[in-house]
Amino acid sequence: GTIVKALSGYYYVQPDQPLVDIGYDMKSVQCRARGVFKKRGLTPLVGDKVQFSLTENGEGTVDELLPRSSQLIRPPVANIDLVVLVFSVIEPSLNTQLLDKFLVHIEHAEIKPILCLSKEDLQQQEGAQANEAKEAIATIHQIYSKLGYEIYDTSATEQTGVAELKERLQGHIAVFAGQSGVGKSSLLNQLVPGLNLETSAISQRLGRGKHTTRHVELIDIDGGWVADTPGFSQLDFAQLGVEDLSYCFVEMRERAGDCKFRGCTHVQEPGCAVIAGVQAGSIAMERYEHYKIFLQEMNDSKRRY
Ligand code: GDP
Repeated sequence: GTIVKALSGYYYVQPDQPLVDIGYDMKSVQCRARGVFKKRGLTPLVGDKVQFSLTENGEGTVDELLPRSSQLIRPPVANIDLVVLVFSVIEPSLNTQLLDKFLVHIEHAEIKPILCLSKEDLQQQEGAQANEAKEAIATIHQIYSKLGYEIYDTSATEQTGVAELKERLQGHIAVFAGQSGVGKSSLLNQLVPGLNLETSAISQRLGRGKHTTRHVELIDIDGGWVADTPGFSQLDFAQLGVEDLSYCFVEMRERAGDCKFRGCTHVQEPGCAVIAGVQAGSIAMERYEHYKIFLQEMNDSKRRY
């Protein structure tokens, strides 16, 4: 089964096969972990695939942890294999620099990102706001589909794209990411009838402690799982080396072998394939500018220590 919740030393395991088949009516089994994990320095995590056995009182024991494909620290979840990166078309305005920063961190974690444009209903309004929303949608499709990223246009209020997104999450353990106020909770509420996560307008957010730490839980979406706590909210570059950064930009990763010098930082070296790509228009200037800004940020923060 899969650990869907961890609380006070108990692990809640949802079996791959429904328990009703063998005469139990609960959806998940409250388990203790075997002492041997502690001895080996292993802590079971939400998202872990496990083997467990039922004890006589209807509880269980986690006997074996299966190998993890990934491990996030915030929130602590194992086996996440999709990140739904949510950006709103307006309110808050599209910020592609922030989007690229999220993508760098997701690429660095080697988890597959999919882009989700939210609040697409706002392009139906009158006036300047609608134009801004339309421009945001066009920008995202132009730049990011060329890079091979999947893009879903969604609206939680109109329920557009929600069924498609839910279909895409089948068979995966996903986490939603994106800045506060873009509509992550609203989308999750649409994906899972009856979920009722709290949502709020940006103007009402201050001092509410909405993102205080709490236990992460996996939400069952009929054939897939979604973490109920956003991921990748800590966006500093402390874990990244300068040489990792260009690897996290797919278009630079693809060209790295074509540069004249090994270890090329793609800033001013002669014979740089990335700079040539920018000049030829095959690499988006905006993405390249963000790369240079992040590189500067990394160098500045390293100098401070
Ligand atoms: P989160 O911080 O990313 O979880 O964002 P929320 O789900 O709390 O939403 C932030 C605000 O955006 C709330 O006021 C929502 O009502 C609003 N909102 C969310 N989704 C949509 C949408 O699809 N369309 C519109 N027009 N507003 C939305």
